[in-house]
Amino acid sequence: MSHTTRDPYEEAKKELKQAVEILGLSDEVYEILSVPERITRVSIPVKMDDGSIKVFTGWRSQHNSALGPYKGGVRYHPDVHEHEVIALSMWMTWKNSLAQLPYGGGKGGIKVDPHKLSPGELERLSRKYFEMISKVVGIDEDIPAPDVYTNPQTMAWYMDEFSRLKGFHAFGVVTGKPLILGGLQTRVISTGHGTAVVAAEAAKKVLGGIEGKTVAIQGFGNAGQFAAKSLSEMGAIIVAVSDSKGGIFNSKGLNVDKLIDVKLKTGSVVNYSDVEKKIGTKDPLYLDVDVLIPAALENQITVENADQVKAKVIAEAANGPTTPDGEEILTKKGIVVVPDILANAGGVIVSHIEWVNNRMGGWLKEEEVKARLEEKMTNSFNAVWDFWQNKLDTSKYNMRTAAYALAVKRVYDAMKLRGRI
Ligand code: GLU
Repeated sequence: MSHTTRDPYEEAKKELKQAVEILGLSDEVYEILSVPERITRVSIPVKMDDGSIKVFTGWRSQHNSALGPYKGGVRYHPDVHEHEVIALSMWMTWKNSLAQLPYGGGKGGIKVDPHKLSPGELERLSRKYFEMISKVVGIDEDIPAPDVYTNPQTMAWYMDEFSRLKGFHAFGVVTGKPLILGGLQTRVISTGHGTAVVAAEAAKKVLGGIEGKTVAIQGFGNAGQFAAKSLSEMGAIIVAVSDSKGGIFNSKGLNVDKLIDVKLKTGSVVNYSDVEKKIGTKDPLYLDVDVLIPAALENQITVENADQVKAKVIAEAANGPTTPDGEEILTKKGIVVVPDILANAGGVIVSHIEWVNNRMGGWLKEEEVKARLEEKMTNSFNAVWDFWQNKLDTSKYNMRTAAYALAVKRVYDAMKLRGRI
């Protein structure tokens, strides 16, 4: 699933440029927002189990802090590079702004294949990375969270390392923590469940509802799994899923609980038995389904393959799966794309609730958390939809443009009010 051939930072800047133009803002505003406020690069020496020392490269990009402390995940992936981390941090700024959270945008990454490290090596790498960025993160400065191939255990190590360095229990320095360390149950399902909620809203507008509609999902990590689970609970039929090892198809629908179990036990959905046929990793993108959920990595739908996409609604659980030139084709075909900064905001929305809860010493009930997540996702969807339908020329502009316009405007207003511009 290579996603390195295109530069996501260039794609992110194109999206920003269009939003700045629509809002009638100056070139200077574009110039400020097109670069991160700070980027930290660290070379992380790690003692391996065999006694040797390996040096890994890591980053933390802090894009914009007009709305509050930087917030965004850390990904571990062999293809992570500086421009990817910058693009992802910029997308976090828009995501947090659109969801009306008191956060700016940040993102981190380490260039590593975590599956090739032992648990001990992974812990030493994680602790050292966090120590090396500890001067630029903090409860009110920058609050990391899980992303691709990081999880609650990674957050526990980060939190412990930071607490050790600072001499107090810093529960609020990261979110997506294990439950007994201040995490929330809903955080685990939040990204995928949030995507399902907006996919259902879009289906209501475009297809008359989600019940009985067919869904294909590319990517079966945390976001893909829980999008599948929630959508099937809403009555949709999950006909295809894939991960980096391949995919499976069954026109009568896949049993999502069983599928998650197989993924957990064997590492891939390809080992699920009740299938009509095996398909390729990218094939879910091209199936004739009602709803498509890209839930893997960036740059999956591009100018090269967008004409093969047949879904009527796309809800982006991944960050940056559609490139601007790919989306142009989708827009012309009348496909409604619920953009990533809206569709996958569920994770950071519940991260915010976790952070607030940590600061209150633990107060909230899980039912309240889930209800707030659903309410926020639905409200965000409707705000973007209404702005798109009522304020923009829908033959020219898509839903992403509407989402960007709303998100960039809030950041611009905050910069102005703070006297930064
Ligand atoms: N990594 C997630 C994202 O891309 C969550 C970020 C967070 O919770 O801070 O939105």
